Amino acid sequence: WAKAEGRGRWAVYDPERSAADIARSALAAGLPAALDRGEFVVHYQPIVSLLDGSMIAVEALVRWAHPELGLVGPDRFIGLAEETGLIVRLGEWVLRQACRDARAWHREFPEAKLVVSVNLAARQADDPAIVDTVASALSRTGLPAELLQLELTESAVMGTAGEPLRSLYRLADLGVRLAIDDFGTGYSNLVYLRRLPIHCLKLAGPFVEGIRGVGDGSPPDHRDERIVDALVRLAHALELWVTAEAVETGEQAERLRALRCDTGQGRWFGPPTPAGQITARLRGGIGSGPDGGEVAG
Ligand code: C2E
Ligand code: MG
Ligand code: MG
Ligand code: MG
Repeated sequence: WAKAEGRGRWAVYDPERSAADIARSALAAGLPAALDRGEFVVHYQPIVSLLDGSMIAVEALVRWAHPELGLVGPDRFIGLAEETGLIVRLGEWVLRQACRDARAWHREFPEAKLVVSVNLAARQADDPAIVDTVASALSRTGLPAELLQLELTESAVMGTAGEPLRSLYRLADLGVRLAIDDFGTGYSNLVYLRRLPIHCLKLAGPFVEGIRGVGDGSPPDHRDERIVDALVRLAHALELWVTAEAVETGEQAERLRALRCDTGQGRWFGPPTPAGQITARLRGGIGSGPDGGEVAG
């Protein structure tokens, strides 16, 4: 995997090339074979109603069960997969797996109406084939379209022409939900909010971090509270749902509820887990509240 352009083809022997760079290249080189060998797994993190604590959705988060490194998080390989273009194939695999799992949950617990939320990389959203990819994932698995949500970042929504991507209108026409991920951290060109049929805004972790109750001893960051308050009002004025990401304490959950945020996601409600633990939770076996870290499975 050559980063050699511009530096000559002997760049691989460059003594200045850092160990981190080499490790990165090695990881990237291993991605296609890992996909063929079935080394990726999808974990699911609950998205919970702040009103009654019920689990209304789960976010699909991919992990690499690496034979030597153990469970590798997406922050270490999604960027690489975007650079090499593998994200299209990997993303399609995640989408299929998520639709299959959600279909199984829907079959066993139809009254739960559990939505599965899948991240779409900019490169996937930008590919016109995405509409067929999503339509075929739905028809092959039998998952009702309204139980699938697609998460896009602000920058992924806005194409280079300064217009929201055309394929997003066609995706919305399929009946799937669209969510803006990490809302408030991109270059917020709010034009897409006027035009696109968006269903949900996910408030980025950094805003939620500044939301603290009296319980943890630290003073609340009023500026973050006011930003969250304003963003929730904006969302509700447009009839959108709001999910707060990275909710880590009960005090945060309580404050966010007071600010009329609809749903929350984060360690407080449960870490990302293998599909089986979501099934157990749907059966009523596992309550909400603080719990341990993520385990492989
Ligand atoms: P994201 O979509 O914003 O996902 C939320 C991230 O917050 C996840 O990190 C999740 O594990 C983490 N998180 C959960 N609870 C807490 C908490 O209480 N506090 C904090 N600070 N963080 C929490 P993860 O799983 O490492 O994923 C990182 C990013 O990788 C995701 O951010 C998403 O952008 C990307 N990603 C993950 N899976 C996929 C995928 O299948 N396709 C694409 N395109 N991107 C993916
Ligand atoms: Mg992680
Ligand atoms: Mg996401
Ligand atoms: Mg996010």
